[in-house]
Amino acid sequence: MVSFSSSPLQALLTACGPHALHINDQGVLTHAWAEHPWFKQGGLLTEGFAPEDAPSVAACLAQALSTGVAQLNARHPDGSPAHWLLQAYEAAGRKGLVAVQKGYQHPVDPLTGLPGRELLMQELDTRLAQGACVLVLFNLRDFQQVNDVYGYAVGDVFLRELAQRLKNLCPQGAFLARTGGDEFGLLMDQAGVDLVSWMRIAQMQLQAMMTYESIQWYPAVAMGACESTTSERKAVAVVTNATCALKRARRGEVEQRVVYTPEKKEHHKRQLELEAKLHQALALGELYLVYQPLVKADGCVYGAEALMRWQCADGSHISPGEFIPVAERSGLIRMMGRWALKAACHSMAAFNQAFQRQWLVSVNVSAEQFSDPQFENAIQQALVSSKLPPELLQLEITESTLMSEPTAALELLRRLKKLGVRVALDDFGTGYSSLAYLKLFELAALKLDRSFVKGLPGAEDVAICRSVFAMARELDIETVAEGVETEQQWAILREAGCEGLQGFYFGKPQTLLEIHEYDKNNERKKPEIGTNV
Ligand code: C2E
Ligand code: MG
Ligand code: MG
Repeated sequence: MVSFSSSPLQALLTACGPHALHINDQGVLTHAWAEHPWFKQGGLLTEGFAPEDAPSVAACLAQALSTGVAQLNARHPDGSPAHWLLQAYEAAGRKGLVAVQKGYQHPVDPLTGLPGRELLMQELDTRLAQGACVLVLFNLRDFQQVNDVYGYAVGDVFLRELAQRLKNLCPQGAFLARTGGDEFGLLMDQAGVDLVSWMRIAQMQLQAMMTYESIQWYPAVAMGACESTTSERKAVAVVTNATCALKRARRGEVEQRVVYTPEKKEHHKRQLELEAKLHQALALGELYLVYQPLVKADGCVYGAEALMRWQCADGSHISPGEFIPVAERSGLIRMMGRWALKAACHSMAAFNQAFQRQWLVSVNVSAEQFSDPQFENAIQQALVSSKLPPELLQLEITESTLMSEPTAALELLRRLKKLGVRVALDDFGTGYSSLAYLKLFELAALKLDRSFVKGLPGAEDVAICRSVFAMARELDIETVAEGVETEQQWAILREAGCEGLQGFYFGKPQTLLEIHEYDKNNERKKPEIGTNV
């Protein structure tokens, strides 16, 4: 039996429109639409049916009142077939029935017995008119997998169980609805609920193991919430903001629980817009690569780092600092990364062949790509199709990428090493900075973050550079300093034992041809090794 407060009942009737009847437990119609030929407000339900069907109508009514639901198949007084669904409810301690003509889409979800999205919206409207409230949206992650693997019948069992858990979690006066296949919405009063702790506890209880026969399943539930006080007080705005929070939660923010705040709205709006634009950018080919020279201690170019650029149709540029995080959060980076890898290998292979060089190309790889099962395959394909020798491909990953799943990373790095590609640790010094791990991961190179180079010739940074280079040498790992902007920094780094350099002093990100020009002309710039500047 569905339990409603009186306002959702009104909502239910309204949502059913002219197709619904409201019947009290005596079989009297307390709501019927005026123009209906047989059902009249205040009349009896049986009057709408052929007299010979009266006993079966009465039996059906009794069945619905006792079991919660019944199908009524009879004839109207003119002999036309009548198919109705009777659904029992309880409001303010009274039992009643709602009868809906079959074929009309019922607003109550038959699987869980919960109201649907439409009713939730109406209830939200009602509550907003009365005061403040909170909307929490719940979404099961990877639920489709359960359906795919175990079948829909098992999926249904788990959905019902989740609905039950949600019902148990409802504070007094809450309104719970199933708003989509694997999505639920809960409305509750804002007063007296510590939303953040409630969400934490709710998530813990919802995610407890479910079992069905020999199947065990741990549901992963993402939650997004919006308090009406922090939002525009319109039902649509509250739902949109809660949906935004849910979307962010699904992307793994704050352990999959996010409460909407208006301060972040602008920022996230821009991010969502960027994400949409990025999809188009990929399709329209607005992304391209530039290359920043990598030089040896003597200033000779030995390769280049490929860096992604995005020029919009209106000519404006969006920096990687802005679009890469958006691409990473949306998962688009996997596709973008595959493209960059392939494009970089092809460009460098063609360049090397045209100018008889053996430069390496260094490509940035995000954590999302690193954990992509297709990643290794993408590397192999890029190498095969471009004919770039594997030792001329370097992948740049950060410490956090390695450390998020060290065991899997270790495995993958070993396989990459077998392929013959090099792996460099990018932005070293900004994360865990564990030299012990460097050895374990068999890295080819370590790129010291720009922040240390920036501090040169400060005594502390000189000392840090020296010790990092010395230790790396012991471990047989090449060192590269990032962000070299002055001749003085170059001299100090060379002195301190750094083998590779990169920075605006040697060249900004540009085309490979421009780097080639620079390399041809830079003889005069080369210092005597060992010179102090
Ligand atoms: P990163 O991999 O550490 O790249 C070096 C960044 O430092 C580049 O910024 C480069 O332009 C900048 N840089 C180099 N030398 C100097 C210098 O002397 N002074 C200063 N102030 N900056 C210097 P960019 O191109 O804006 O890229 C930023 C970050 O975006 C990169 O940092 C990398 O993490 C990411 N990124 C760029 N392209 C890709 C890509 O294709 N894939 C992935 N996954 N990430 C990328
Ligand atoms: Mg890099
Ligand atoms: Mg870097």
